[in-house]
Amino acid sequence: MSFQVFGIPVSRGVAIGRAVLVASSRVDVAHYFVAPEQVEAEIQRAFRARDEVAREFETLKQDLRGDTPQELAALLDVHLMLLHDEALIGAATQWIVERHYNAEWALSAQLEVLARQFDEMEDDYLRERKADLEQVFERVLSALAREQGLVPTNAASVVQRDFAGEDPLLLVAADIAPADLMQFKRSVFHGFITDIGGKTSHTAIVARSMDIPAVVGTREASRLIRQDDWIIIDGDAGTVIVNPSPIMLEEYRFRQRQSELERARLARLRHTPAVTLDGERIELHANIELPLDAQGAIEAGATGVGLFRSEFLFMNRNGELPGEEEQFAAYRAAVEAMHGMPVTIRTVDVGADKPLDRMSASELRHGHVLNPAMGLRAIRWSLAEPSMFRQQLRAIYRASAFGKVRLLIPMVAHLHEVRQILESVKKVQQQLSDAGHAYSHVELGVMIEIPAAAVMLPLLLRHVDFVSIGTNDLIQYTLAIDRADEAVAHLYDPWHPAVLQLLASSIGLARAAGKSVSVCGEMAGDPAFTDLLLAMGLRSFSMHPSQIPSVKQRVLRADAARLSTYMPEIMGSEDPRREAELAFARQKPAKSLQQA
Ligand code: PEP
Ligand code: MG
Repeated sequence: MSFQVFGIPVSRGVAIGRAVLVASSRVDVAHYFVAPEQVEAEIQRAFRARDEVAREFETLKQDLRGDTPQELAALLDVHLMLLHDEALIGAATQWIVERHYNAEWALSAQLEVLARQFDEMEDDYLRERKADLEQVFERVLSALAREQGLVPTNAASVVQRDFAGEDPLLLVAADIAPADLMQFKRSVFHGFITDIGGKTSHTAIVARSMDIPAVVGTREASRLIRQDDWIIIDGDAGTVIVNPSPIMLEEYRFRQRQSELERARLARLRHTPAVTLDGERIELHANIELPLDAQGAIEAGATGVGLFRSEFLFMNRNGELPGEEEQFAAYRAAVEAMHGMPVTIRTVDVGADKPLDRMSASELRHGHVLNPAMGLRAIRWSLAEPSMFRQQLRAIYRASAFGKVRLLIPMVAHLHEVRQILESVKKVQQQLSDAGHAYSHVELGVMIEIPAAAVMLPLLLRHVDFVSIGTNDLIQYTLAIDRADEAVAHLYDPWHPAVLQLLASSIGLARAAGKSVSVCGEMAGDPAFTDLLLAMGLRSFSMHPSQIPSVKQRVLRADAARLSTYMPEIMGSEDPRREAELAFARQKPAKSLQQA
């Protein structure tokens, strides 16, 4: 039966394919394809792991002492029975045969199918056996992991596969932590859906950087969609169509082709300089998460990196942080890939919805930390860990010997934080000189993402070379809206007059002080805000590489001087969005550029 699920659109485009349900706690299970000639060997891997676990259970049973409660022996029997049930390993091998999934993926796919059946059982006793099934599954997974060295052991090492003739796969999960989603970069999934999340949650940001259609905050998708269902993700409307009719499929395939044509058309702007109709040169920089992304930035025509979110180097490492050499290698790789164009490296911004180790957003909200977005996040964490902070600064400074590096500090709200940062920078420069390490001049910037920083900007500007406005957090903290919480997503409003005031005044103050100012939050990459930001005087934007072409198209059609004349009306309006739409519509594009 066909039905629709509604959520929040976070990454544009249409994806059509088969649902792959992954439990949030198992998003890090390896997902890769095996070659047709390896299918048999993969099935044998699954059976070997099963037999090993069976032996473990038998040994446990034999070792039970006479005084052990009978229930324990009975429980082991239940586990053994589940292990040998055809519905688990036997059925899982079908996924290997038919879809060429690796054994771990096949098992987790089958577990999802079975877990659903258990959930629907009327009998309490039987329903509760789901926990036993999960325990058995975890043991088989551990047995598979022990075969390390024979196979890739994490999702980061997924095998690419030519999709010709194959059904694309779409990931469906209750929640995906940003670091886990990172592991799916360049992987097998062509789109994803989650139950929770907001438009500027970091999971959504990573989806945009992957440039795959995504819908979050659907609340129930992972419960309603079944393993292998056909689904359409409409990343523009925020709709998911489950088991679509042939007519719907045809319509969406048409839309998919249209958007591919549009992308191909926009890609032709790659080498066109971003200059407005009245001759203002606009910087279009890229936001990246990993050094590898720099290549995509170059291909999209970025003229620099405006935000390297270094925290992704720090995540999911089981508490072991990257050392100076590892960080230096990563920063240097990004700097060299940009061939002399500026690379703005932001110091680590963990906390809020970006935990260091795997923790779902709901765990964060309801369990471990009282109020993570307002807690020990970003620069607060760095200053609380001074040696870790200096280690990162040393790595960043050393990378400056290989190109133009700018240092950006997140979440600054106090002048004493800036003073501490400057002291650390001084110390690090001395340490590097003493050790004979080369480095060159590095501009220092702070992010404006806490309203306090925007309000006291003239004081901050005395100490820094540039500022970058993080609209994602600036909106979150100005409106007191958790950006990752779908329950308040409708109140997350970039057009709110208070947000516009802070944005316009920050841009104006920085320019008046002769300091460079950019926006690196999601507003910068959304063409719906390009005219507004130009009207406010912004000349530097940083966004995901995939967004550069459509923002550039807007820039080419804009008359910056004329746009700025509309600012008083917009800022004085009770409905700034409507006012801006009306005002900007009056700005007719020049004929020759209509086709740009
Ligand atoms: C922002 O807050 O706008 C920003 C760019 O930083 P992040 O999204 O990583 O918090
Ligand atoms: Mg931020």
